[in-house]
Amino acid sequence: MSIAPPQKHGPPSEPPRERRIALFGGTFDPIHIGHLAVARAAERRFHLDEIHFIPTGRPPHKHRRDMAAYADRYAMVALACADHPRFIASLAESGAGHSGKETFYSVDTVRHFKQKFPGVHLYFLLGADSFLDIPTWKDYETLLGLCDFIVASRPGFKSDTLRLVIPPELFARRGATHAPLDPRAIALRRTAIYVLDTVSSHVSATDVRHRLDTNESIHGLVPPRVEEYIKKQALYR
Ligand code: ATP
Repeated sequence: MSIAPPQKHGPPSEPPRERRIALFGGTFDPIHIGHLAVARAAERRFHLDEIHFIPTGRPPHKHRRDMAAYADRYAMVALACADHPRFIASLAESGAGHSGKETFYSVDTVRHFKQKFPGVHLYFLLGADSFLDIPTWKDYETLLGLCDFIVASRPGFKSDTLRLVIPPELFARRGATHAPLDPRAIALRRTAIYVLDTVSSHVSATDVRHRLDTNESIHGLVPPRVEEYIKKQALYR
C-alpha cells in the first residue's frame, strides 16, 4: 500500500471563512412552512452554517392564554428541524427547568449567543411584521447594534417602511467604510439590515390554529411530522 506524500508546493490555502449563524425566534405556535421557507431562503442567500430556531418562553408581546405548552412548541420545532442538517432547535429561551414560563428578551438572547460563539457572524432573522414592532422591544436601539438583521418579507409589506422604525441616530454616516455591499441593505453604524424578499408566504400560525379549531385541513401548511404531532396530541382544538 502506498501513501501519497504530503504536497510541498500545493495551492495556497484560503483563509477559513467566518462561521455564520442566524437566530430565528418566535412563538412557533405551531411552526409552519412559512417559517421554514424563510429559513431556507436565508440559509441560501447568506450562506448560513446554522439557523437556531428559538421558541420563546412566555413572549413579552404576544401572550395568549391558549398558547400551546412550551414543551409542545419545542417538540414541533425539533420535528421540523430534524431533516435539515443546518436547522437547530434551541432551548435558549426555555428558562429554569425548561419550563418555558420565563420571559426572555431578544437583546439578552443575542448577547448570550455572542458570548457562546465568539468570532461568529451573527444574524437575527425575523419577519417584516415583527421588525416593524421593534420599537416596543426591550433596549431595541442596543439590539440593532449587536448583530446584523435579516428581515423576511411578508405579503403586503413595503420595504421602505423598515427605515421608519429606526432612530435616525443609528444610521451609518454617509460614506461610512463598513457600509454593506448589498445596495438595498440599510447600513447602521455598526450593523446592517438586509431584506429577504425572495419568499412571500401567506401562511401564519394564526391561520393554522384557526383551521384546526374549525376542523379544516392543515395539510401542506406544516411539515408532515408536525401535522402528525398536532393530531396525536390533539392540539389547538
Ligand atoms: P401568529 O400568526 O401566531 O402571530 P406567526 O405565524 O407570525 O404567528 P411566529 O412564531 O410569531 O409566527 O413567527 C416567528 C417569526 O417568523 C416572526 O418574526 C414572524 O414575523 C416570522 N414569520 C412567520 N410567518 C412568516 C411568513 N409567512 N413569512 C415571513 N415571516 C414569517
